[in-house]
Amino acid sequence: MPASLIIKGGTVVNADASVRADVLCESGTIRAIGPDLAAPAGCEVVDAGGALVMPGGIDTHTHMELPFMGTVTMDDFFTGTAAGLSGGTTSILDFVIPNPKQPLMEAFQNWSGWAEKSAADYGFHVAVTWWDESVHEDMGLLVNDHGVNSFKHFMAYKNAIMADDEVLVNSFARALELGALPTVHAENGELVFQLQNKLVAMGLTGPEQHPASRPPAVEAEATNRAIRLAEVIGCPIYIVHVSNAESLQAIMRARGAGQRVFGEVLAGHLTIDDSVYRHPDWRIAAAHVMSPPFRERHHQDALWAGLQAGHLHTTATDHCAFCDEQKAMGADNFAKIPNGCAGIEDRMAVVWDAGVNSGRLTPNEFVRVTSTNAAQIFNLYPRKGAIAVGSDADLVVWDASARKTITTATSVSKVGYNVFEGRKVQGLPVVTVAAGKVAFSHGDLRAVRGAGRYLKRPPFSPMFDALKRQAALHAPSAVTRVR
Ligand SMILES: [Zn+2]
Repeated sequence: MPASLIIKGGTVVNADASVRADVLCESGTIRAIGPDLAAPAGCEVVDAGGALVMPGGIDTHTHMELPFMGTVTMDDFFTGTAAGLSGGTTSILDFVIPNPKQPLMEAFQNWSGWAEKSAADYGFHVAVTWWDESVHEDMGLLVNDHGVNSFKHFMAYKNAIMADDEVLVNSFARALELGALPTVHAENGELVFQLQNKLVAMGLTGPEQHPASRPPAVEAEATNRAIRLAEVIGCPIYIVHVSNAESLQAIMRARGAGQRVFGEVLAGHLTIDDSVYRHPDWRIAAAHVMSPPFRERHHQDALWAGLQAGHLHTTATDHCAFCDEQKAMGADNFAKIPNGCAGIEDRMAVVWDAGVNSGRLTPNEFVRVTSTNAAQIFNLYPRKGAIAVGSDADLVVWDASARKTITTATSVSKVGYNVFEGRKVQGLPVVTVAAGKVAFSHGDLRAVRGAGRYLKRPPFSPMFDALKRQAALHAPSAVTRVR
């Protein structure tokens, strides 16, 4: 008889509705939802005790086990996904990042090998960091044979992985052809490069210069450029980690004009401001160095409004855990501090506390922005992102009254410093079920190395077919010369 588990006595909260119901899972799948379901013999019973039962969180933006200057980030695919499970996140979308000139397929195979140790389900966005005919072909292989349906483009990081307009235009057009979604890290890499050099030349080398080297306009320019490129090519576009009001305005403008633009926001950008870079302890200031940087406080209100209004769709973390020694590479020059902060463990609690407890989000909207939208945008729905019969049994039992103070001392992540250190939150996961098994229960982490499965994500069809028809209509070749 298949392994079964039942969650009894909870309120099932989906993006569309909440209903008092038990949830029966068998062999990793949700089999029944309803009041007073009978538990089959031998079934494991989880007593929700009146708490909420929500779809497991999906973090659309993580960097586990990221190779970096001869070392790797502190959280590998096992510890990173285990940290996620302890915080109610049951799936991640991570990034394959080929070096310039490295074949995309080779990088994809490397990452696939590293990710086999994952404790939670995972999928990949693949970065396009350079261009030639082989990249064009590999994109096709990745979409058609390997379940990748999104490609990432870094508009920053000049002289490294930066995609210039030539790469962006070629890759966006290829993605449209394949039914894959282009995504961008939107910052103008040339401006960042020159501003960094200018500041360092003036002897301004501390982490407090990091936000000065990447002001909001640097991000807004790239956001707008990516959106305009997508407009001309006729493809949809997903902007990762939108951090400020001006970038959000570019998204709102385009959406208002009927363009299909999606926006992601990080739990950190919603709750942390740029004063962290002026912390007297270099180690703490450097621990917050990530890009785009944390912004002046007023941007947080704009980002929350963007989430509420539906102009931003997903919440993520950009989880990228560096330890103190790794951050110290930039001791003499802020531009050399490895960019990245952790967060996967605390995303759900931070977004709940700052979003739901403040009245900005309803519990259903919380589910939408932490799970459902991610599953729909990246074509995992309804396998993920919903509590529905036939969906994966990825569930989180949520106690809206439980409280804790976040601290690195008790975190699962191996990061050196938690950017949410000292934050008091109310609303916590008490049980996480992944693929029908209890992975976390009341502080007891039972993550299993290798239990995570690779999520093959099919290409998009109907939406893209329509967009392709539109693109063909507007293509220059379709214009008839009037004599
Ligand atoms: Zn990232």
